[in-house]
Parts: sequence; structure tokens; C-alpha cells
Amino acid sequence: MSSLPKMIPDDYVFTRVRDAAHPEYATASATATARYALLRRGMTVKEFLDIDLRGNQPRRIDITNNLKVRVGQYSANLELAAPSAPDAVAARREYLGTMAEAVTYVAAIDTKADDIMLDPKKSRLVCEVDFEKDGKQTGFVRLFHSVHASAYGFIPIPIVVIKNGEGPTAVFTSGNHGDEYEGQVALCDLARTLDPAKIKGRVILLPMANFAAGMAGRRTSPIDEVNLNRAFPGDPNGTVTQQIAYWIESTLLPKADFVADLHSGGSSLMYVPCALMKLSGDEKRNAAQRAMLEAFGAPINYITPGGSGTGQDNTLSGGAERLGIPAIGTELAGSGTVTRAALQVVRRGLNNLLVHAGILPESDRVEITVAPQVVTVAGPEHFVYAAESGVWEPMVELGQMVQAGQAAARIYRPETPWLPPVTMRFEAGGMVLCKRIPGRTMRGDCLFHLGA
Ligand SMILES: [Zn+2]
Repeated sequence: MSSLPKMIPDDYVFTRVRDAAHPEYATASATATARYALLRRGMTVKEFLDIDLRGNQPRRIDITNNLKVRVGQYSANLELAAPSAPDAVAARREYLGTMAEAVTYVAAIDTKADDIMLDPKKSRLVCEVDFEKDGKQTGFVRLFHSVHASAYGFIPIPIVVIKNGEGPTAVFTSGNHGDEYEGQVALCDLARTLDPAKIKGRVILLPMANFAAGMAGRRTSPIDEVNLNRAFPGDPNGTVTQQIAYWIESTLLPKADFVADLHSGGSSLMYVPCALMKLSGDEKRNAAQRAMLEAFGAPINYITPGGSGTGQDNTLSGGAERLGIPAIGTELAGSGTVTRAALQVVRRGLNNLLVHAGILPESDRVEITVAPQVVTVAGPEHFVYAAESGVWEPMVELGQMVQAGQAAARIYRPETPWLPPVTMRFEAGGMVLCKRIPGRTMRGDCLFHLGA
């Protein structure tokens, strides 16, 4: 048995925290869990370290800011926290190990790694439907929300489970952003028309994932102003939207063999109908996602490494990636409305995805006459952001091919009408996939993005 490295200060305590779903990562959720446990005992955390106690050279990595740190042998890793209330020794000992116990743990966990995992916190949401029952189940996921007008009430998030015997499970979600409607319409159709007798396996539909945002027709929830698709992996004790994210990632997604999260441009953007996938380091998963895109058959398929403006691992797809589940998304149209062209794409796409998975029979496949075009949406060079605030004039339109250096937009400042407009240019060439809708723009708004 080794002794603890001298590098660990005496006022540090170790937390037996590891994200149960992803033992190889010290993740944001594991850190948040530890932070919460300390908080409940009146301690706030100044610093988190990830310490590898097995190697000859212990590593010391600051993960205070929720950095995702890959650790070599998770069974020999412990997280250490520096509480800002060093006098709270008794409380600390109740939940956390002492340094000596930590050493014992390191010896023990080599053979019993599960012991270092905190039980995954249970979601507070309650699902009315039985995921294991054959036939069609409809109901609500109850998100309890005690407010002035409703002391014991819940927010009813609609859910539909259609199941017939053994087979793969599809999870389709929409209304993740409440002002993106095409996916919601398509999932309403599936909820009514998909006949359990005709399928093999299970289809789970969550058409209004962020229910309050959906009812308000807004991107974010009017209750907590949180954007669900930037809230993953969520928090079981967080705000309502954070609780939804946690339930989706901890309860819903683990049931899935594959996921489609249906988005569009919402109120502020308009898209050429696209389906998309985010690349990960898992080549097998990447290949499964490419096959899903091909089956879905949107006119444009775009592949992205996940940009800083479009969500990284804090999206629903990021949750699927953490769980290793193949997932595709869509950007169907937008402008806060519904178009027939986008509905045709998403209805056919979901149907063909179910055929591709073997949930629907091959005879149900709807022919795709035009092969999808595959493009890449990579770094900031594929985006045009407003450099000034004002009223903007688009110099190109959706679907158009553009060259690097070409004028994208002119921004006028009517409050100072004698100033010349500011010309924004494309940094790269490609096809215009996405365009801002409102005529007013603020510095930093996305005006266009390309696929190349
Ligand atoms: Zn969206």
C-alpha cells in the first residue's frame, strides 16, 4: 500500500465521486454532484483536483471549471475537493473520506471499482407510462413545480411509448427548443399513426421536451430562462429545465439504441432543410450516424465537429455521445413557423429511420429520389457574425454557393444615417445553409452559416 503523495494539501478531502455512466471521465456532472454534496454540508468548493494515485507520478489536474479530463485508470482515481470552510471537519468526515481512508480505498478499488462511484442521483421527475409494456402508452412525465398558483402541481411533459416485443429502441425528441415546430408536428403524426402491431421493437416520442418553452413558443423556458439544449447533462436538483435535461440523459437516453433530436432554426434563423451529425472519437458510432443520415435522406446532410456557438457537450446529442448512442439531429427550416417542404423531409426521414433500424418493415420505406448532399460545418470560418449593431441587408440567399471574400451582408445604422454601411464578408466558400431572420441585428449575432 502506498502513502498519499505529498502534493495533496492537508485541508483537502477526497470525494468518492465518479460519473457512473462514464467512469473514464471526470465529468462536469460528477463534479457538480460533489459540489452539491459539499454545499449541503455548508461548504463551498474552492478547487477540484483529479488525482491519479496509482501511477508513480501522481497527476494533479484542476477540474474546478468543469473541464472534461480523461483519466487513465479510473479505478485508481479520486477527486479531491478543497472546501472553503476548513472548520467543518465533522461534517466533512460524515460524507467524505479522510486522507488515510483514501489510501485504503485506493487499495480496495483495484478489485472493486464500483465502490468509488456515488449512486447516480435519482431524477425527481415521475413518468406515468410503462416503457416495458407492449402496445401504445400515452401520458406525461411529471415535473413537480410548486408555485403560488399551484402548490402541489406538476408540469406535464407529454410522452408516447409504442412497443411490440423485442427489437431496437428509437428515441425521437422535439420541442427541445420551444419555437421549433416542424419536429413537433411530425412526432404528433407518429404518435397517432404508428401502429404497435406493425412494428418490431420500441419507439419513444418526446414531442415537447421543454414543455414550458413549447407552450410559450420560445427557445428558452419562460420559467427559468434556461436553454434545454445547453443544459445537459442537467442537474436533478437544478431549475426545471436542468431537471428535464437530467431526466433525459439519465433515464430516457439510456433506453435508446439510436436518437433523433429534431430542431430547426427557431425564431431567429432559417435553414435549408438539413440533417446533421456530430463527429466523435468513436468511429463505430460515427459510421452508425452516417448510415442514419443516409436513411433519413434530408436534402443536405452536414457533419460537424461541434462548434462553440452551436453547443458542445451540453446538448442532448452531447448526452447521447456520453452514453455512446448514435444520434442525429435536424435543422429543418425555422423562422418560427412551419413549412410544407420541411414537414415532408422530417415525416419521410423518421419513417425511413424506423425502416433502417428494422422497427418498420422494408415495405414501408419511402423512396428518396435525390441523393443527399454531404457538407461539413467546421470552425468559425463557416459563420458570419455581425460586427456592428443595426439593420442588416443580406447580400446572398439560402442555398446559394458563395466564395471566400464575397460580401455576405451590409449593416446599416439608421440612428446615424450618414455613416456608410459595414460590409461583412464570408471567410470561406460553400453553400449558405442558414440565415438570420430579424432585420435588426446586434454585434455578435450569427447572420449566416455555410456548409463546405
Ligand atoms: Zn433547436
